[in-house]
Amino acid sequence: MKHPESLMMSHGYKPELSEGAVKPPIFQTSTFAFRTAEEGKAYFELAYGLRKKDQTEELGLIYSRINNPNLQILEERLCLWDKADECAVFESGMSAISTVLLEFLKPGDLLLYSQPVYGGTDHFINYFLNEIGVYTIGFTPSQSKDEIIEMVEKSGHGSRLALVYIETPANPTNDLIDIEMCRSIADLFSNEDKKAYLAVDNTYMGPLWSSPLAHGADIVVYSATKYIGGHSDLIAGAVLGNSEIMSRVKVLRTFLGNMASPHTCWLLLRSLETLKVRMEQQARNAQQVVEFLEEHSKIDKIHYLGCIDKNSKNYQLYKKQYSSPGAMIAFEIKGGQKEAFKFLNSLKLIKLAVSLGSTESLVQHPATMTHVGLTDELKAEIGINQSLIRLSVGVEHAEDLISDISQGLEAVNLDIEISNLSLKSALTQLI
Ligand SMILES: *Cc1c(COP(=O)(O)O)cnc(C)c1O
Repeated sequence: MKHPESLMMSHGYKPELSEGAVKPPIFQTSTFAFRTAEEGKAYFELAYGLRKKDQTEELGLIYSRINNPNLQILEERLCLWDKADECAVFESGMSAISTVLLEFLKPGDLLLYSQPVYGGTDHFINYFLNEIGVYTIGFTPSQSKDEIIEMVEKSGHGSRLALVYIETPANPTNDLIDIEMCRSIADLFSNEDKKAYLAVDNTYMGPLWSSPLAHGADIVVYSATKYIGGHSDLIAGAVLGNSEIMSRVKVLRTFLGNMASPHTCWLLLRSLETLKVRMEQQARNAQQVVEFLEEHSKIDKIHYLGCIDKNSKNYQLYKKQYSSPGAMIAFEIKGGQKEAFKFLNSLKLIKLAVSLGSTESLVQHPATMTHVGLTDELKAEIGINQSLIRLSVGVEHAEDLISDISQGLEAVNLDIEISNLSLKSALTQLI
């Protein structure tokens, strides 16, 4: 099998079916003509799961809520990065995630999830799922396997553990969660009647350098808005897994109607052609930015996978699960919110915006932006403080990124000097 990047321009598409067009056209159609009534009948039997596919049979095109060439080509190409049997693409990361949660959790079930999870996911879990009678337990990266098992047992709902849902590396601090450990927790609470599934949101690292399925996950989810889309010009999501799991996800998607449109899929097909070159450049740039930050006197602490102490247990976990430190950095600037905001407001090239994984570098302040909804206790426990800044590194020239960060940090310096000066003059006046 060729490498995924070699197949992103051809896999799953036959030019001869589209007038020889080298690139897939946008199949902007809601419905597809059947050649015969018998053919239409056969497609519907498969779409509704009324019988199993014959070995050589493929589900034909019916209606664009169920399938569409742009959607299918995209799904086949995404499978290559994660070595998955099947993929389903959604109109947003949140619709991918909420569809998985709705399919694998029923009232009375228990969901075990890592904290922090993405704000939208957290809201869906704690407002929607709790209201329909799903029990939930959150754990943090610092908790041991035994502690997590004890929490599940104490809850009294262990026999109904239906889903373990994790985000690793955690956003924004790059803390790691052991996927194999979560697999064994899910297995421990599985029985013949009920299997506990393991889902991993792999958005933060992206598809290139980690394979959650290979470490025992049943389901991988992405916000394709981030690295996969990569240009901050669309919203989309994806779910990957084996055929049995994915047929459940796709059936629910058919009835929720939250598949991505042909146009969004077409944009994502363009994005996939450069996924690898983009992500590699982003990771190289991140490495250089970190080298600069490490030497800077205004920086307190850097949260970046490439900075994990080689003698720590976390380092082994990092090496086991990931083949690159990625392009997401968080760092603490000396001072507090005032200094952090001064820095953010002083940047000229790097944009102040949430989201991540795109060609342009984006910076934001988790404590007052993406993670503002967390309780103060949880923020303190996972290290989201007022001086923390999250940086998603893009494909710009590293020198330009570094000089922008450098002048931003100088502006902070100045501010402190000015306030020191005015303090001094105030004091002199007093004396
Ligand atoms: C952005 C994001 C989501 C939500 O995806 P949307 O495409 O915005 O709906 C989910 N999980 C993570 C980790 C994200 O970063």
